[in-house]
Amino acid sequence: GGGVVAYADSSRPEEASGPPQQQDAPRKKKVVVLGTGWGGTSFLKNLDCSRYDVKVISPRNYFAFTPLLPSVTCGTVEARSIVEPIRKMFEKKKKDVSYYEAECFKIDATKKAVHCRSAVGTNLDGNGDFEVDYDYLVVALGATVNTFNTPGVMEHCYFLKEVEDAQKIRKSVLDCFEKASLPNISEEEKRKILHFVVIGGGPTGVEFTAELHDFLVEDLVKIYPAIQEFVKITIIQSGEHILNTFDERIATFAETKFQRDGIEVNTGFRVTKVADDSITVKSKSSGGEILVPYGMAVWSAGIGTRPVITDFMNQVGQAKRRVLATNEWLRVRECDGVYAIGDCASISQRKIMDDISSIFKVADKDNSGTVTLKEISDILEDICIRYPQVELYMKSMHMRGIADLIGSAVGDAHKESMVVDIEEFKKALSHVDSQVKTVPATAQVASQQGYYLADCFNKMDHCKEHPEGPLRLSRSGGDHHNFRPFRYKHLGQFAPLGGEQAAAELPGDWVSMGHSTQWLWYSVYASKQVSWRTRVLVVFDWTRRFIFGRDSSR
Ligand code: FAD
Ligand code: MG
Ligand code: MG
Ligand code: MG
Ligand code: MG
Repeated sequence: GGGVVAYADSSRPEEASGPPQQQDAPRKKKVVVLGTGWGGTSFLKNLDCSRYDVKVISPRNYFAFTPLLPSVTCGTVEARSIVEPIRKMFEKKKKDVSYYEAECFKIDATKKAVHCRSAVGTNLDGNGDFEVDYDYLVVALGATVNTFNTPGVMEHCYFLKEVEDAQKIRKSVLDCFEKASLPNISEEEKRKILHFVVIGGGPTGVEFTAELHDFLVEDLVKIYPAIQEFVKITIIQSGEHILNTFDERIATFAETKFQRDGIEVNTGFRVTKVADDSITVKSKSSGGEILVPYGMAVWSAGIGTRPVITDFMNQVGQAKRRVLATNEWLRVRECDGVYAIGDCASISQRKIMDDISSIFKVADKDNSGTVTLKEISDILEDICIRYPQVELYMKSMHMRGIADLIGSAVGDAHKESMVVDIEEFKKALSHVDSQVKTVPATAQVASQQGYYLADCFNKMDHCKEHPEGPLRLSRSGGDHHNFRPFRYKHLGQFAPLGGEQAAAELPGDWVSMGHSTQWLWYSVYASKQVSWRTRVLVVFDWTRRFIFGRDSSR
């Protein structure tokens, strides 16, 4: 059944016809990768670099294992143990790749070139700018911090995004303790200096808070016994709960644990201004404002778009969007040869209602204007691959199969001999698109996308077309399975909460909290030698052992 290709193709933007193929020596296609974070390195690790002329551009010549960044802030883990030099990675994997330590400041989609500025200094002309052209561009630039234009945040807050940030935080925490230990400092002043405020109750903010608390109670109070009574940690979260992307049980567990630890959790408050020595906080319910004196503040309230991406979005007609959109094959919409993965992009899932007529036509093989249940079943798998929301919808409505879905439109009595026309077909599927899910901005997503995209590139010759095509959704087209749209596999998430406790949410609605979860977390992140893939495998193995053990709760 190649029939489905017809609507799958027509739903994608037209490919611009590429440059004419050279007759004699076909040169290797140039692949340029921007960024050496989770997305970029995962792509490079899996790419068959002998097939392409590969150039990598990033201002940081190393990969950083971000999940352990919060541990670096308090010296639990050394900065150098969580980074891997990018050149070493290429050498180890015997990859023939060029690396330029530079920042890309402009993507020129028309010329198919990127403009870069050297990060290590300028050349003899006093100009460190250069241009690199590409056939295929992989944009994996990640995100930047988002201050939501809150006044004073840039000047006064610390961030936790890069390795340097974590080191700065560590230094600043210690500075506060030394400052508060100086003579002639009033108690009030000590309280202010030793008030640590974390703005943003997402995983990063919570994890940092937990690290900081452990650092204070386990180490600093022993070194600074005279001032321990003045230390305070506060989290300010605009939402109703901290960790609101996690299961409710985890949010509650975290809040309770923090309260027991003496950490103040202020939910429902928004920071409106940060000054030199106070933070203005506004209650979302009453609208009242409070001034909070502080010694040090860490802002982890959200991520934003890098200027180079914003500029690129303007070029490709995405000026009105908040995030760079790709199709389900990770290709930037309306743009030839450009792919985007990780935090800098988001997949915009095709709506089934936009294609409903063509899908109906494919199902209606005899062109009779009606389709049978069997005819729909025949292409259901293809539909579910192209439109994952169909399965999600049926699951959310507790439907056991397509008969239930169609039955919802024509009535259960007619289920057996069901024959539907286009209007009924539309009706049955009309609510499905409400289940379109966006993938989160996580390392898990970025690395899976990098892996997927490299797979597509490795098989591109084989396929002659672009990585996303030709889409062969028929069951027989086994070796084309890689050109199925990207599909994210959620492997669960961890939230270390300090005091040797952690919470984990694992696939299949398993939630676990407590000491053994912390142990699980350690086991996952302990070995820096293993790759992300093996880490994931470790999670799975431990998970299985863990969920059948006595500490699990459902
Ligand atoms: P990044 O990994 O941010 O990589 C971007 C790359 O682009 C970097 O190499 C950067 O140097 C480079 N770059 C930037 N600007 C330019 C430019 N102009 N030109 C060229 N290169 C440029 N996710 C999880 O799944 N689990 C976790 O436990 C977890 N913990 C986290 C903890 C912290 C403290 C943080 C900050 C993030 C955490 N994340 C976690 C999120 C995860 O780190 C991101 O989702 C992930 O890094 C996204 O990958 P990326 O490749 O899109 O971007
Ligand atoms: Mg990257
Ligand atoms: Mg990274
Ligand atoms: Mg993304
Ligand atoms: Mg028919």
